[in-house]
Amino acid sequence: MAFFSKLFAGLSKTRAQFDDSLDEIFSRETIDDDFYDDLEELLILADIGVTATENIIEGLKDDAKSLRIKSPNELGTHLAEKVREQMSTCEADYEFEERKSVVLVVGVNGVGKTTTIGKLAARYRSEGKKVIMAAADTFRAAAQDQLAEWADRSGAYLITGRDGQDPSSVVYDAVNAARSRDTDICLIDTAGRLNNKKNLMEELKKMNRIIEREYPEAYKETLIVLDGATGQNAVNQAREFKDATDVSGIVITKLDGSAKGGIAIAIQSELSIPVKFVGVGEGIDDLQKFDADEYVKALFYKEGYTKDADDEEE
Ligand code: GDP
Repeated sequence: MAFFSKLFAGLSKTRAQFDDSLDEIFSRETIDDDFYDDLEELLILADIGVTATENIIEGLKDDAKSLRIKSPNELGTHLAEKVREQMSTCEADYEFEERKSVVLVVGVNGVGKTTTIGKLAARYRSEGKKVIMAAADTFRAAAQDQLAEWADRSGAYLITGRDGQDPSSVVYDAVNAARSRDTDICLIDTAGRLNNKKNLMEELKKMNRIIEREYPEAYKETLIVLDGATGQNAVNQAREFKDATDVSGIVITKLDGSAKGGIAIAIQSELSIPVKFVGVGEGIDDLQKFDADEYVKALFYKEGYTKDADDEEE
């Protein structure tokens, strides 16, 4: 199945929460306070978050005023546009792909870090890039085995550590290998323990120091992986990690089947960090760059809609 179809199917539960209510709201006679209040409530219920919802409602009010829009139906087309504006990424968000870079991948256990690294490695390998994956999650033997499997599949070079070895020493080995082998992208899997924030901060700081010291010329990217099915909790996790380290991008996994797919908007707006990738399954092709346009369509458009048909209309 093509990626968009998976995203569209994956967000069906989220979309189902909107479908009838959005229709009802946008088919009303007049734009009044009730209209805005009901729309606001609906967006908040769909996990879009308070900040993003307020921005969207304000944007709609501005449009209604400046464009003299009188009918809710007409304003409806502006809703998707507001979300799209909020979520758009730019070329600079993916600069790490163009440079020799070290990508630290953080997030709590089980969100899909290792899988995401595997998929990214496969993606960059297929573009002919030299890739190193480093298993700095030395607390979980399974994570090392999992990465080894992805390394086999993608042809990426793998750096591992012994069980319980200091994760930073794996980072040390990885960045030195990346430098000496003239590697394009070095992807580092980290342990996802959040039970002790101080330790986490110290560990991430240490890793950053090592990267900075051993490979100062590398472009540094820190991606946080969040489980798109966990709703508000994902926003809290992102906040904790943002406090601990400079997070430069967000990956949202498990958007296949999530009833909380609106959370991508909440996370992006609460933290002002762009969502750069989304995952819609466990397969090698199930991770793609975030596309605001596709996301909005998958979130708001009804069943029966196909992207191709829409593209032809445009
Ligand atoms: P980690 O502990 O953060 O490294 O998480 P893992 O990479 O081990 O992933 C945990 C589980 O989530 C595994 O079973 C993955 O196959 C699964 N997973 C990862 N990404 C996705 C996704 O986008 N969709 C679905 N359905 N499962 C995923």
